[in-house]
Amino acid sequence: MLYNEKLTYTEIYRWGCEQLSAVGIDETETDARLLLEWCCGTDRNTLLAHGDRTISAEEYGNYTDCIARRKEHVPLQHITGGQDFMGLTFIVNENVLVPRQDTEVLVEEVMRHLHDGMHILDMCTGSGCILLSLLRYSNNCTGVGVDISADALRVAGQNAEKILGTQVMEQSRVILRQGNLFEDLDSQDKFDIIVSNPPYIRTDVIDSLMPEVKEHEPLSALDGGEDGLFFYRRIIERAGEFLMGGGMLFFEIGYDQGGEVRRLMEEAGYTNVEVIKDFAGLDRVVCGGNHV
Ligand code: GLN
Repeated sequence: MLYNEKLTYTEIYRWGCEQLSAVGIDETETDARLLLEWCCGTDRNTLLAHGDRTISAEEYGNYTDCIARRKEHVPLQHITGGQDFMGLTFIVNENVLVPRQDTEVLVEEVMRHLHDGMHILDMCTGSGCILLSLLRYSNNCTGVGVDISADALRVAGQNAEKILGTQVMEQSRVILRQGNLFEDLDSQDKFDIIVSNPPYIRTDVIDSLMPEVKEHEPLSALDGGEDGLFFYRRIIERAGEFLMGGGMLFFEIGYDQGGEVRRLMEEAGYTNVEVIKDFAGLDRVVCGGNHV
């Protein structure tokens, strides 16, 4: 499609839809619309109420670039640089897993047990979406986010400033630490809550994931080893050393991992272990109390 000064918002939106559906993108209309809103600084209302608005040459240039990238299966969130999660907008890029709506179930479950002033550890923090939402929606809680990837932690740091403000960072209410699981943590530092959404996809399943995920999201945030349970075992093995008596451990899990993760936690002595379902009715969270 060539640019002309009479080109309207609706016309270029329809072109965007056709381009994306030609290569089999899933949510063609939503993606075409969101990218157009991103390029033009508009909102949902514009397509409905002001579809005859014309497009500037710059908007045209940006939109055609965005559509070209999306056609290559670059995730929408990598193009716009943001993803909404728990009513907050998180910065994302190719170094972190894009926050998923399913993970809100985990955050909400933790919040049911969260009290003012608690100390929280988020193991494999990625973008920081779990820890930062918990801190944003509580009072005087403090947190540590651990990730093995320095690139991911840079994103988490940007999000911490954006979501909590620089003052919180200066007061060290949130600390982001690079490390391999518990290896570099001080075991004098005890937590009320340990939460984790670790990589949990079985290695042999990775190849069948959609290209948006397989080719553009970090493999280290996805791959849970041969049986998908590698990180649950490692975290369950050591979490007790870092939990206060009466503290709780929370995991996000894959839909078919509830039974096994529950068993691993029970074998390690966790009490009142529960498997909680997501909005689709699938097992999504396992949690339990630290034995004292
Ligand atoms: N904790 C982050 C999230 O939920 C990252 C998870 C991961 O990398 N597996 O988005």
